[in-house]
Parts: sequence; C-alpha cells; structure tokens
Amino acid sequence: MDASMPVQTRTTCPYCGVGCGVLVTARPDGSCQVTGDAEHPANFGRLCSKGTALAETLSLDDRLLTPRIDGKDADWETALARVASTFSETIAAHGPDAVALYVSGQILTEDYYVANKFMKGFVGSANIDTNSRLCMASSVAGHRRAFGTDTVPGTYRDLEDADLVVLVGANLAWCHPVLFQRLLAVRKRRRQKLVVIDPRRTSSAEYADLHLALKPGSDVALFLGLLAHLEGANLCDKPYVSAHVTGAEAALGEARGWTVERVAAETGLKPADVAAFYYLVAATGKTVTVYSQGVNQSSAGTDKVNAIVNTHLFTGRIGRPGMGPFSVTGQPNAMGGREVGGLANMLAAHMDIENAGHRDLVQRFWQSPAIAERPGLKAVDLFRAVADGRVKALWIMATNPVDSLPEADLVRAALEACPFVVVSDVTAATDTAAFADVLLPAAAWGEKDGTVTNSERMVSRQRGFRRLPGAVRYDWEAIAEVARRMGFAGFNYAGPDAIYREYAALTAFENEGRRDLDIGAHARLAKAGYDAMEPYQWPLPAAGATAEDGDKRFFAEGGFYTPDRRGRMLPISYRKPASLPDAERPFVVNTGRVRDQWHTMTRTGTSPRLTAHYGEPFVEIHPDDARAAGIAPATVARLDGAHGAVLLRALVTERQQPGSLFVPMHWTDQVASNARIGAIIPGNTDPVSGQPESKHGTAALSAFPAAWYGFVVAVARPAVAGIAYWAAAPVAGGIKVELAGQAPPSDWLAFASELLDPAGAGAPDATLLRYSDAARGRERFALFDGSGALAALVFVAPEPVALSRGWAAKQLGTVPDVRGRASLLAGVGASTQDDPGAILCSCMNVGVNQIAAAIAGGARTVEAIGATTGAGTNCGSCRAEIGRLLAASEEDRPAAAEAPALVA
Ligand code: SF4
Repeated sequence: MDASMPVQTRTTCPYCGVGCGVLVTARPDGSCQVTGDAEHPANFGRLCSKGTALAETLSLDDRLLTPRIDGKDADWETALARVASTFSETIAAHGPDAVALYVSGQILTEDYYVANKFMKGFVGSANIDTNSRLCMASSVAGHRRAFGTDTVPGTYRDLEDADLVVLVGANLAWCHPVLFQRLLAVRKRRRQKLVVIDPRRTSSAEYADLHLALKPGSDVALFLGLLAHLEGANLCDKPYVSAHVTGAEAALGEARGWTVERVAAETGLKPADVAAFYYLVAATGKTVTVYSQGVNQSSAGTDKVNAIVNTHLFTGRIGRPGMGPFSVTGQPNAMGGREVGGLANMLAAHMDIENAGHRDLVQRFWQSPAIAERPGLKAVDLFRAVADGRVKALWIMATNPVDSLPEADLVRAALEACPFVVVSDVTAATDTAAFADVLLPAAAWGEKDGTVTNSERMVSRQRGFRRLPGAVRYDWEAIAEVARRMGFAGFNYAGPDAIYREYAALTAFENEGRRDLDIGAHARLAKAGYDAMEPYQWPLPAAGATAEDGDKRFFAEGGFYTPDRRGRMLPISYRKPASLPDAERPFVVNTGRVRDQWHTMTRTGTSPRLTAHYGEPFVEIHPDDARAAGIAPATVARLDGAHGAVLLRALVTERQQPGSLFVPMHWTDQVASNARIGAIIPGNTDPVSGQPESKHGTAALSAFPAAWYGFVVAVARPAVAGIAYWAAAPVAGGIKVELAGQAPPSDWLAFASELLDPAGAGAPDATLLRYSDAARGRERFALFDGSGALAALVFVAPEPVALSRGWAAKQLGTVPDVRGRASLLAGVGASTQDDPGAILCSCMNVGVNQIAAAIAGGARTVEAIGATTGAGTNCGSCRAEIGRLLAASEEDRPAAAEAPALVA
C-alpha cells in the first residue's frame, strides 16, 4: 500500500461476473485489508473466498516490472517502437488481416475500447477477439438472434423476486458465489424453488428441489420438450406473442414431437423428473432461467440459448420482475468487452459489423481512415490462422491461450512458429509469455483505473490504490502509444476518463432509441465525476433516466432491437455434441472451475489459503468407472484425448455420472507436470458463435502405473524436472509439491539431494537426514539449514503419502532438537498435534478434521458447525461441502475420502 494513496478505496473485485464492490483499507504497516462494500448493489457487503483473499495476492514477487525484448530487459520506447514498426511492416507487406489482437475479459472497458478502435477503425481489420469467446459468445449470439442485440433483459433482483430459479449449466455456488448467497438468503425468508440442470451433482445441486443430471449436451432436447409442454398447458401469452414476437409457429413446429418420454430417452433422465420440471415451470409465472458455461461452451451453445429464450418469449416471462432468461458471465468485464466491441464479430457500442449503416456511423464518429468491413477471426480460428501463417503478428493481452484454448498444444506450436508475438501481462511466469518476442508489463488489480460491467449491466469503477510499480503501464496507454507510432490520430487520451467520455458519446451518437446501449448521460462527465462515479445500470441516456433509477429491465413491453422491433422465437432442432465417446475414447470430458481458483491461477494460485481447498489438479471419476479402470482414490489417473494426454489426481465420487469425467481448467505447466486440460479438448466450435465445446471432449481413462508417491514441503522450490507427476502449491513460508513416478530411483539419497539441492548456494551448511525402510518402500528426508531450521521434508511411499499437509507446512522454519528431528522424520507430530486437516472453509481457514471434531462434539447442522468452528459463516460457498460431511457422518462413512485432500 502506498502511503500517498487514499486510506480507503472503493473498487471492484477482479474475478467473476457478479462484479462485487470491495473496500480496500490501508493499514499503517503498508498492507491492506479487503472487505465487501456494503453499499455496492451487486453484493451489499458480501464477498466469496476469492474476494476475501484479494489482499493476499498483491505481492510483487513474480511481477513483470519492465518491458522485455527477446528475453532481455528493455525500455518502453524501444519496445513500443518495435511493436509499432513490426505491425506497420506486416500490414504493408501482407495486409491488415495479417495482424491480430487477442484480449481478455480481465481488461477494463477503457482498455477494450482503445484496442477495438485501434484494430477495427485504424488497422482496418476485425482480427481482435477475446477470451470471452470461450466464456459466453453463445449467449451473445443467442441474444442477437432473439432480441436483435446483445441485451441481458433482467437484473440480479429478478433472481430474488422469482418463485422458481432454474440453473442450467451454472454452478453458481462455486462460480458466482455471492449471487448464490443472495439466492440462499431469499430461501431463508420465503419459499423459492430451485431446479439445477447439470450432469454433475455440484454444490449448487445440493440445494436444489430438483436436480436434473442429464446426459452431457442434451439440454436442447429438454427445452424443446418444455416448449411443447407449455403449449400443451395453454400457457402461451397470446397478447404478448401477437404484439411483440415472431417465429412462434416455426419454433413450436420443431418442439411438438418432444414428448416427455422422448426427452427422457434422449437426456437419460427419468420421465417423472422431466414431467416434474415441466409442471413446475408451467405452474410458476415468476421463473428465471440462469445459464452459464454449461450452455455456452457447446457446439450447440447458441441453439441452447435460443431454446431457453423461446420458452420465455412464448410465455411473456421476460423483462418483468422475477422473470426472464439470464446469462451470467464468467469474467469481471466480459460484459464491458461486449459493449465496446471486443468480439471479432461486433463493432462497438453494440453495433453490428455486418450493418453498413453502423459501420458508417462508427467510422464517422472515430474519424478513422478505415473500418473493418467483415467479422474477424474468432479465437479458435484466429490461432489456426497463426498456425498456418495467415496471421504473422499477434498481440496477446491479459490472457493465457496456451492453457485456456482447446487443442492447446497446437496453440503453443502456433505461437512458437509465429514471426512476432507481443504479450502484455502482469507476470512473465505464464505458459504464453514464454513465446513473447516483446513482453510488456501491465498494471494489475489495485493499480488499474477504469470501469467494468457485471452480468446485470451494472457499470462500476475499478480504482487503483497502489502506484504503478517499476515501469508498469496501463494497457490502454500501451495501445495508444503504438497507434500513435503507427501514425494514427485519435489516440491522445489524457486518462481513462477521457476514453470513457468518448465511449459514452459513441453510445449516444445518432442513437435516438434505436440501440439498447446508451450511456450518453456520461458523454460530458468531468474527471471528478468519473473519479466519484457510483455503480449504475445501463441504459443511462442523456435524457430520461438517472443513475439512481430502480432496476432497469428490457422487453416487458416488447421494443426489441430487430428491424420490426419484435423478438424472435427460433426453430431449434436438437443435435448431439460434435465429439462423441467411442471405443478408443469412451469418456466424456467436462471442464470447469473450482471454488477457490481463478482461470490459470496467476493470482489465486499465489495464496496458500486459496490453494488449501484443492491443491493439485484432479479428475472426478464415478466409482464404477474408477473400479473398472483399476484406479484407487487419490492415485494418479491418465486421460488420453485426440490431441494429447494429462496426468491428474483421481477424485472418486458419486457426484460424477458414469461415463463422464470432470477436470478443472486452472492448472498450467507453471504449477503441474502435465495438467493442461485444454491440451486434450478438441477445437469443435458452435457454428454461430464460434465458442469452443469445452464441456464435451472425449478421452480414454487409465491408471498411471505409479511405483512410488511423494510429498515435499520446502522453503525453496524443489527441482522437479523429469519427475513424471508433480503438482506444486504455495504454503506459508514455502511450497508443497506432490510427486509420483514409475520406476523408483536407484539411489533415493541422490534423488533427494538433487530434488532439494542441500549444497546449493543458499544452503552451504545444510544437513540432510534420512529415514529408510526399503522393505516397505518408505523413504523420508529432512533438510535443515545452517541454523538448524527445517528447510524441507520429503516423504515417499508406494501408495499416496498419508501425512497431514497442514502439519508438515507448519514445521518449516522450526528448529527441533535431536529428538524433534527424529519425530519429524517419523511424522509423529502429525498425529499428536492439532491438525485442521484439508481446508474446507478458506475464508475462516477451517479444515475437515475440525469440522469432524465439531460433529463428534454434537453439532448436527451446518449452522451449529459454523457456530462452533466459524466454517461457512463468511461467504458460505463451503456450506454444501460441510453438509456432505454431516450427511456422511450420519451414514457412518468417511466423506473426506472423496476429496483429493485424502492425502492431506
Ligand atoms: Fe469476486 Fe467472489 Fe464477488 Fe465473484 S462472487 S465478484 S469472485 S467476490
């Protein structure tokens, strides 16, 4: 915290699309405290575990603080000149489509606006796409097909006002935790039903009145059947449809054959459950259908969105309190990016690239020399174009495509072969930055200054509370500097407020109610007003609305943004996912998030608290499948896809359905040997949205033939190169690493010495103690530095090492006597000292052993456990897991064995 900065700053969380307001308070010691902003309308003071831990992720360790060219430090002038000249030369030689930008829902609206203006208005190519393509492009496409524009009709308040909330492919409890907490708060006050449609029994499903664990990818069949049922139940809102909707008859024509029995056969659900869902929706006027990546990340993602939207248009349940389809975005500024045209097939301010009138309007507004005439390359195609040489200069900003895109090894090869790669990021320690010819140091959360838009169209300020460290600069500034060096006018911005005013003016330019996105009231907002801006929901036209207006909804009275101002019901036909399991790859691979991690872990992966929940990459496997493959819980499993293979810890659980596997998207080569799940996901995309089908890869499953397992906790990172399986995570004062290998080393002492480097420069007086039980395959080592403090512990066994990771981490830096050293090697203290066990509640730092003790002490409800231990009393995201422990204790079976924390 910088002493010259304000004592308290109101800003916004940089993670998910809920867009929570946070208060950052400077402490006298230079650190800061992060709490929820009670006045922010998205969260009213709540934060989830990730938001709560924000202050722990501000370290400058690993930060990129100066530009680098070809791996060597450079000054900005040289770096900018290199980028500008290479882009100009490439355009001159090969045309504007030979250059591209790949940006991110992590950057701010002002950064996005300048990047989009640079490419589409001045370079003259629409080759700018964003990692939001992987997140919610299908929702954008579905909205545009149905509404004529990319409008989210409702607000968060609708989820609270609804009598029925249907979550489709959305594990809100983990991925949008504060929004889920708002739902749970409603359930305490009144009866509200929750239906969860998800192949997995997620934490959200634990709360559901009805969980429909349908076959992966069969959602369209379910919603076609729902539309047919709604017609049969005479629930068409005829006045609304006849006044405001077209296409109903064609849509019904596709839906009518989908009887309950046919839907059940296609989805694998019980007919009674399908019927129960249909009756519930039919009987409940105030229904909100919330959808997320389970819908979007599909080769039929756009059709899924429109199948859902059809049911709302048909019943007129849209734009009214407690009713509507509702897309929740994954990233903090996915919506802001959509608004300013961050997608390759959009223009700016919700205008269409295919619309000549819109192109003319935007070009006149920008007074630009060019305007992109056609959509650019969408993410997957963009990297294919890099691979085959059509794109020769690429600027990647705040994202990590080597890990996050499908066919990720091909992406890596494409970057390796690309003649010129620029990467703007906060760290050089990413799998993508390794391929940068020019690395540009970008501002991180806490330093950035601008705006973001959350899933309900709420625009909030993200404010800096730390000075830019080193030579770090804002992303918008880097783009504007390059644009100026390429000879482009119109990029002389004094600050983000000037960019915001220009963007606001564009939304109002020749609008007159023709476009949904209008924030013209801010076109002349002074810097002081920008600095003090309160969260507001758009639209906010120059006349007729104020920031203080209540919830703003669209389409209750029609007024769609199609040429005839009517909403469109689409004739949707069901089709199966693009890649189906077969004899070679019989499992469906579903990817997603875990509760405490964010994307590729460059921030959340630095917090010991957040990595305590899931500390290594894993695959969820149904017990029958694990048994058939000879995979025991907590051993290592191998997945072979069409494009690569990964090694993951086996989490055997009945929450997974047979034939399906779930793997988190977060782990990279920076923290694990071979866990980039993007490497085995095929690059199948939705034909309309271009969004990859990340929820439906296929793979073969087998046991990794481990001859030994190991666990290391150390003050310095061990040398793990060459070990078949490793996964690292931070602990307080060091690092922990899980290991597994096939052939055991011929000399364990030499192995440990190489692993820990006791004679290395930092530990010339180190002592390495060994305990060996060769007959049982057990090896243990303890490394003490010159002062006698524990620098590392290594435990090796033929099976997954059973040792409390929390206890082991706490021993680092302790100075035991001779007997204590022996105890360490014996792991004695692990069983005799208080051991919290694997951390379940990250906010309050409560482990499974503490919760088990509370249950043993008589706590019989989640609330009682919270009262005893504090677990689940902050963000509440762990309450479903606590409930599972309670249920397991009643069934007298060790629920903790389901977690990869089995080895903790
Ligand atoms: Fe951040 Fe959590 Fe709020 Fe999402 S729910 S914005 S991750 S605090």
